[in-house]
Amino acid sequence: MLPFVMNTTEKSSAAKLPLFFYNTLTRKKEIFEPVHNDYVRMYNCGPTVYDYAHIGNLRSYVFSDIIRRVLLINGYKVMQVVNVTDVGHLTSDADEGEDKMTLALKREGKPLTLEAMKEVADTFTEAFLEDLTALNIKHPSALPRASEHVDADIALIETLMQKEYAYQTSDGVYYDTTRFDGYGKLGGIDTEALKEGARVEMNAEKRHHTDFALWKRNDTIGWESPWGRGFPGWHIECSAMAMEYLGKEIDIHTGGIDHIGTHHNNEIAQSEAATGKQFARYWMHHAHIMVEGTKFSKSLQNTIKLRQLVDHGFAPLAYRYWLLAGHYRTQMNFSFHALEGAQTALRRLHRFFVEHLSQVAGGTVNASYNEPFLRVMNDDLDTPKALALVWDLVKDEEVQPADKRATLLHFDRVLGIGIIELARSGSKGIQLDVDSQDITELPESIRMLVEDREAARTEKDWARADTLRNDLEKHGYAVEDTEDGPRITRIRD
Ligand code: AMP
Ligand code: ZN
Repeated sequence: MLPFVMNTTEKSSAAKLPLFFYNTLTRKKEIFEPVHNDYVRMYNCGPTVYDYAHIGNLRSYVFSDIIRRVLLINGYKVMQVVNVTDVGHLTSDADEGEDKMTLALKREGKPLTLEAMKEVADTFTEAFLEDLTALNIKHPSALPRASEHVDADIALIETLMQKEYAYQTSDGVYYDTTRFDGYGKLGGIDTEALKEGARVEMNAEKRHHTDFALWKRNDTIGWESPWGRGFPGWHIECSAMAMEYLGKEIDIHTGGIDHIGTHHNNEIAQSEAATGKQFARYWMHHAHIMVEGTKFSKSLQNTIKLRQLVDHGFAPLAYRYWLLAGHYRTQMNFSFHALEGAQTALRRLHRFFVEHLSQVAGGTVNASYNEPFLRVMNDDLDTPKALALVWDLVKDEEVQPADKRATLLHFDRVLGIGIIELARSGSKGIQLDVDSQDITELPESIRMLVEDREAARTEKDWARADTLRNDLEKHGYAVEDTEDGPRITRIRD
């Protein structure tokens, strides 16, 4: 049995400053005001567990983790639900293609049964939870699986049928988007323009190009329903699970920007048609991670998983740090070179904490850093500015070490970059030190590059030192300059 309910609610001491979030619905930054006073209900569209998450996907959960931590530091209690899509997510948003889980069964050479589907889902759900832990992401309060909520989907579809928002076809049940006033309001989707791109021949029984599947008939694999055997649509699953765990009106709903156009507009249409209430107050979306300027794509074979970063000698927290160095609404371009920079910075921070602050005790949070820190985090989660404040504090010799320690630990409650764990365990820093190599153990050619670089540095020939650093990186070695000399880390084979 996978972990299901953890940390149902949490509360933190209050510090009152207005909290602003950018709301995709209104297209502006707004003051955050939850439906129920200080109790926030948040739904994060979760993973489709047909494979390991790629590092782009994981931005979604670092993002929602930061929202949760900021809410906590502002004194809110948080109920956070992340769903697990283990059926119903088709390869195309336009109700085309195969169910991704069915594809996974074929890929793994497993029979097309619900039992086998559950096995695949279990494997990748476990892997997903391991990724969350590695990235210091607080596990959600609940992690409902789509396959265990099919009854709720059917009940919701029945309500939509009764209210005449849905109609049956030979291959399932569809939502009639023309019945819902303001369909496409999230992100200001031009539904007429979509017509151009819609391939009308796709499903002749669909009444309008924006209508979408609530139930898909499937004789091979699925559940019984009033509309025949099959499985629920991906969008209805999210509406049903969000409402079951969080109620009809929730505060925050998140996902990547790719969800705005179809998935989230469809969730709004279904939920609001069924309940007559506003489904979510704040819709928050993060931008994508690109790799070498292109999208992650299976066909380009450029999807990178967290465990691959680890295999290359990176700590998962270095990836978290790298993500926080960009604002969540900014598209970021991933490269190993950029990740090396993040890893070096994080290692420096950890080392500073261990070497200068581990022996001090007591201390209080420094108000002249805490106030601006909270202000930037409350300004739509400005993590790059928050990290800059961390470094200002580290360098500030006016702040007493004990207060510096207390303040860094306080900031880490929001950033989650491993400082609290360092203080708890008394360890030497993120597990990077184990990977760094003694210079005498390096291959001769690499050792010579390192020594040349040291000579260039002694001569203050920084351009040559940089060129040699690049050469080392090309050979798969990162170099970091420490007080004890160069520290070399193998980053790839
Ligand atoms: P999926 O498992 O495909 O349902 O996606 C999980 C989450 O990852 C969703 O919130 C997507 O919006 C998000 N996502 C997909 N690709 C990327 C990417 N390249 N960068 C950032 N987020 C992404
Ligand atoms: Zn969703």
